[in-house]
Amino acid sequence: MRCTKRARGISRTPGAHWHSRLHSRSIEPFPPISDMQDSAPPPFIFHAGTRPLLLSIPHMGTYVPPAIAARLTDEARRVPDTDWHLDRLYAFAQELGASVLQATHSRYVVDLNRPPDNASLYPGQATTSLCPDLTFDGTPLYLDGKSVDEAEMAQRRESWWRPYHEQLRSELDRLRAQHGVAMLWDAHSIRSVLPRFFEGRLPDLNIGTAQGASCAPELGQRIHEIAAAVPGHTCVLNGRYTGGYITRHYGRPGDGFHAVQLEMTQCSYMEERWPFDYVPAKAQAIQPHLRRMLDSMVEFGRPALRGSAGAR
Ligand SMILES: [Zn+2]
Repeated sequence: MRCTKRARGISRTPGAHWHSRLHSRSIEPFPPISDMQDSAPPPFIFHAGTRPLLLSIPHMGTYVPPAIAARLTDEARRVPDTDWHLDRLYAFAQELGASVLQATHSRYVVDLNRPPDNASLYPGQATTSLCPDLTFDGTPLYLDGKSVDEAEMAQRRESWWRPYHEQLRSELDRLRAQHGVAMLWDAHSIRSVLPRFFEGRLPDLNIGTAQGASCAPELGQRIHEIAAAVPGHTCVLNGRYTGGYITRHYGRPGDGFHAVQLEMTQCSYMEERWPFDYVPAKAQAIQPHLRRMLDSMVEFGRPALRGSAGAR
């Protein structure tokens, strides 16, 4: 029997039991496989807000089903390529009235910011796939060194990719129906130095609007202005990271759907090395600026300010 969307995901209040388990797991050097047997989380956590903004956090999941974890290297079971702590960093979003959609499963299980057909996001450049077989550092994820085959990839897509995207689609549609416009913020973070993907050090705040295609141009410019004013941080609009599948697929400004991706360096709010600790002082310094960016998204959703740019 096919489960309903509500049964497959979860609408929550902060502090759900297994949610805290995910955080506690992040400080264990190697999550024991036996510890993963009893409480598989649903594919996503969802909070419905009151304003026309949806915050999507597709790479913060750390859960790996036991049958997959048993095949991973010890290093991979640490899930080092997680977008750590973004629920905590963006905790203010719910105060703004935003809806929030968070992944629970690791990107090693299935990458929610990749297209379902696994086409490359950045042709000609190194990138990771729907079911990656390497860490960001280029070491194999699987003990046998093999890639996930087509049948398993399809199963993972159905089990975890599809529910997240069905929820994302239905929430954007709900927001637009209710407010006339739907604003999507896709939140990411990454280590500042990753030679496999880019030279040198990444700018701190990488705003992606699919080269201007995923949102009204003035909105992208406004977000960029806010980022450029953050003291001690560098920024770029549509640099190395122009927006992944979520930004590109759901951003349809002509139809009232405006999507922006922010890929930020993890050193802006946490330690980039194991055990990937959150650094409150750094986080508190950047949060007011993130809040201004999300505020500007919400403000853009107001018809009087939106003008023709956000109209259907
Ligand atoms: Zn990410």
